[in-house]
Amino acid sequence: MGLLDGTPWEHEVLCGRCGRGEAECCCPPDEEPPEPFVPANQQRVRIAVEKRKKGKRVTTVNGLMGPDAQRRELLARLKTGCGSGGTEKNGAIEIQGNHQQRITALLVELGYRVG
Ligand SMILES: [Zn+2]
Repeated sequence: MGLLDGTPWEHEVLCGRCGRGEAECCCPPDEEPPEPFVPANQQRVRIAVEKRKKGKRVTTVNGLMGPDAQRRELLARLKTGCGSGGTEKNGAIEIQGNHQQRITALLVELGYRVG
């Protein structure tokens, strides 16, 4: 009777890429494929101007879809386009100041459906 019969070694999981056992495999871990961007023309967004503390106004863009990277890219475009600071909050974009018309024009230009 072999001592190794039925030991876990016979059922070792082999790496699908290098064919080696778990202990010898040094393949990098699988990376999650990045979430694809949602085309602008498939998105309908809402733009609003909100009043904040001390009477400050911010222009918000809500209803955005797609991964964080897409929102960050859009945020950068809007900040540049408005010459203003901004941030993202809970999946929405906030640009400092009242830029409703400018942001509407920029988003329409990018292909977003606004309203
Ligand atoms: Zn491997």
